[in-house]
Amino acid sequence: MKLIRIGALGNERPAALIDPQHYVDLGDVVEDFDGDFFAHDSLDSLAEVVRVRIAAAEVRKLGNQRLGSPIARPHQIICVGLNYVDHAAETGQAVPAEPILFSKSPNTAVGPYDDVRLPRGATKTDWEVELGIIIGARTSYLESDDDARESIAGWVLVNDVSERAFQLERGGQWLKGKSSETFNPIGPWLATKDEIPDASMLDMRLDVNGVRRQTGNTSTMIFDPYFIVRYVSQFMVLEPGDLINTGTPPGVGMGWNPPIWLKPGDVMELEISGLGVQRQVVVGAR
Ligand code: ZN
Repeated sequence: MKLIRIGALGNERPAALIDPQHYVDLGDVVEDFDGDFFAHDSLDSLAEVVRVRIAAAEVRKLGNQRLGSPIARPHQIICVGLNYVDHAAETGQAVPAEPILFSKSPNTAVGPYDDVRLPRGATKTDWEVELGIIIGARTSYLESDDDARESIAGWVLVNDVSERAFQLERGGQWLKGKSSETFNPIGPWLATKDEIPDASMLDMRLDVNGVRRQTGNTSTMIFDPYFIVRYVSQFMVLEPGDLINTGTPPGVGMGWNPPIWLKPGDVMELEISGLGVQRQVVVGAR
C-alpha cells in the first residue's frame, strides 16, 4: 500500500493512494497513521479494507488537495550522518567506522510539497535527499538484520534540510542545524514493505531550479537500512512511527565548488524510485 494523509496541516485524513490521481479514504476506519496505528499492526486489515473499497468503486479523485507527511508526527527522528562513501569524501571527512547518529526535532516533519522556510540568520541552508525508514514496532536490542526487517513498517522519501552554519559553526553537535521549522519534508507516500522488495537498489536524485545536483543509489550506502535499524536499537528504544533518515548521497550544496546555498524562490525537486517525487519552494525567514 501507499499510505497518504490528505488535508490542511494538522487536519489530515488517512488514505491509500491507488494511482497518481486516485485514493481510497480511510478516515472512518483509522484515526491516523501514527505510532498507535503501527503499534497495533493494522496493515493487513487495512489492506483488506482498501481491496473491498476499490471493488466497490469507492475511489476518489485527488485533484490538487494538499498532502501532509504520510506519518503523523513521529516520536523521534533519528538521522545517520555520512552514510555514503562519496558524500563523506565531498565533505572532507573520513568514512566512519560506525554509523554517526544524530537527532532532529520531530516537529520538522511537513508535507512533500510544503514550503521550506529559511530560519532567521540562515546563511548556508542545504538539501539532502534521503531514504527514510518508518519503524513499525516498539523495539530494542535487535539481534539480527532479519529481526530489523521485521520491525520496519515501510519506507518514505525525505529531504533532510540542513543549515550548515548552525550545524558546523555554532558550537558542536548537529541538532541545531537540522531542527528548524519545515526542515524535514516527508512523502508523498509511505510505501509499505511489500511495495519495495529491495530497498538496497533504489535510484535517488535531487534538482534545484531544474539543475541536477544529487544523483545516487542506495546500493552505495556504507551501512544498509537493516544494519542501521539493528544498530540504532542498541542505543535507544525505537517506537512505532519513528523515522530514521539514512543519509544522503553526494551533491549537497556544501559539496559543490564553490558551495551553493538555498535562497528564497529556489525550487527543490527530489525523487527516490518507488517513493514518489517531492517539490518544495524555499521561502524567507518569518
Ligand atoms: Zn542527512
